[in-house]
Parts: sequence; C-alpha cells; structure tokens
Amino acid sequence: MDASPKIDLHVHSNHSDGRESVAEVIDEAVAAGLSVMALTDHDTTAGWVEAESLARSRGLGFVPGIEVTTRTRTVDADGNAHGFGVHMLAYLPDPNNEPLSKILSGSVEGRVERLQKIVALLSADFNLFWDDVLEHIEDGATPGRPAVADALIRLGHFENRGQVFEKLWYKGSQYYVPNTEVPTPEEAIALIRGAGGVPVIAHPLARGKRPENPDDFPRDHFVHLIELGLAGFEAFHRDVDADVADWLVRLAAEFDVFVTGSSDYHGKEGKPNRLGENSTSIEALRQIVEQGTGANAYIPSGIL
Ligand code: AMP
Ligand code: FE
Ligand code: FE
Ligand code: ZN
Repeated sequence: MDASPKIDLHVHSNHSDGRESVAEVIDEAVAAGLSVMALTDHDTTAGWVEAESLARSRGLGFVPGIEVTTRTRTVDADGNAHGFGVHMLAYLPDPNNEPLSKILSGSVEGRVERLQKIVALLSADFNLFWDDVLEHIEDGATPGRPAVADALIRLGHFENRGQVFEKLWYKGSQYYVPNTEVPTPEEAIALIRGAGGVPVIAHPLARGKRPENPDDFPRDHFVHLIELGLAGFEAFHRDVDADVADWLVRLAAEFDVFVTGSSDYHGKEGKPNRLGENSTSIEALRQIVEQGTGANAYIPSGIL
C-alpha cells in the first residue's frame, strides 16, 4: 500500500456539469493514481451505481456523494442582507430518502428555470437560444451555468469556461440570476443527517467570497452549523486560500470535526482542477465511513 494514498472526495461527471462520463472519470482517477474517489455531482445521485461498479472492477475505492446546492444570507455592518450560495457535500446519504430526494429534484427544476432566465438575459447581447444550451446537458443531468458557458464557447464567443465566468458572471453582473429554490445550509445539514449522510461544507470562504480580514470570518455561523451536525470542512481546495485553510483546520480541531482535501475535478477541459491535486487524510475518510449510514462505501482492504 502507498504510504499516503490519494483520497479525492469531490469529483464531477456529466451527470451534472463535469465534461466527462462516469466511465471516463473512473479511467482518469485510476490513471491519476487515486486510491479512493467520491463522485459528488451537483444535486444528484444518478452516477452512483455505474461509478461504484466500475470503481470496484478497477480496485479503486469509491464513496458515493452529492454536492447539495444551498443558499444563505449575511447582514453587513450597514444592515443590508446579501444572499450567497453555499455548496454542501453529502457523503453516504440514502439515495432513496424521500425528504432529501424531494429537495434535490426541486433544486434541479429550479436550476432549469434559473438557467432559462440567464439565457433570456444573455440573448439581448448574444445570439443564444435555450436549445443551444440543451446540447450541453446530458439527459437527466443537473444543469448549471457551465452548460451556458459551453454553448457560448461552441458559438465562438469565448474560449473556455473560465473566460465566460470572468467576463459574464463577475460580482453584480446583469447576467447573473441566483438559485433560489434551494434549502439553506441548516436545512441541508438536517436533511443529509436524516438520510444517514455526512455533511461537509465544500470550498468554504472560497476566493471571491471570503472576507478580506480573518477577524471577519464567520466563526459563530460555522460553530452553529457544527452544533446542527456539520461534520467537516473542505479546507484543502484550490479556491480556498492558505490562511482560510489554516483557520478551518484550527476551528475543526477545536470542535472535533474533520477537514478534507479534494480536487473538484470537472473533466480535463472543464476547469484546471486536476484529480488528486488535494487529498483527504485516512483519518477523515475513516470518520466519513463511520458516520455515514445511508449508503455503502467501497474501500479496498489496507487503506483504512
Ligand atoms: P451554477 O451551478 O450554475 O451556479 O454554476 C457554478 C458551477 O460553475 C460550479 O459548480 C463550477 O463547476 C463552475 N464554475 C464556477 N466558476 C468557474 C470558472 N471560473 N471556470 C470554470 N467553471 C466554473
Ligand atoms: Fe460544478
Ligand atoms: Fe462547488
Ligand atoms: Zn464541485
């Protein structure tokens, strides 16, 4: 066994906004030398069965997961409320749990309506139609802005997803519409735990969303979420700055929760994120497997 196995617990396929099929992703995970991978498509469990069977056949560890879309708000010093999205990873929830699956399908439906609004706003300035976007969403997949980006790239307006996000969806952009038909982080934690899952905040305080000053990090809010059942923080992620990661590691230790590290891979061409570029400790994986009772992980012997 490898001295420090690569454990990457945040990976997307084309069941949401990843560019590659589950089979391609599993091939890439094996090629990247991962020991354990979690599939965490946005708001869906659709890839789990295929991913588990392929992972098993290759001796690759597999943890079924979801990246649950949530939305919360903060009130600034002047008393103004600001809404923002929070992604909550859910490991090992029961995929047939009714309250959870109902919320997830509501989120997917809300995402379709929201993307249609974004397309309507963009069509004032670009020759873009909803059908162009549909070409970039697999049947039944959870749609997101990357599909709109892919359509604009196909039409020749941009070169890659990063460029589209930078030019079109900067803070305060006229082309931005939020996901509103989604749970709060508090609701998501209750739903995930209720389904036997393990909730972990994805890329907390990611670049662009982090307060400048560490004194303004939302300690009380995060402590409150831990009290509600939050299991950990994805501290090691390319969008989480090093000072934030240090702060999260200390907070996690203080409250006896864990931190994870993952890539958030979206395919070789979806984003620059590479499989295995961050890794989760064996100890954190052990806690996930122990706490998660809604589904089974496949962990080859010798890893835990
Ligand atoms: P949405 O789910 O519609 O809010 O879109 C957010 C998704 O867009 C994220 O899950 C990422 O997959 C993707 N994304 C965000 N920023 C970028 C970027 N700069 N380059 C490529 N993909 C991005
Ligand atoms: Fe994504
Ligand atoms: Fe995310
Ligand atoms: Zn993600």
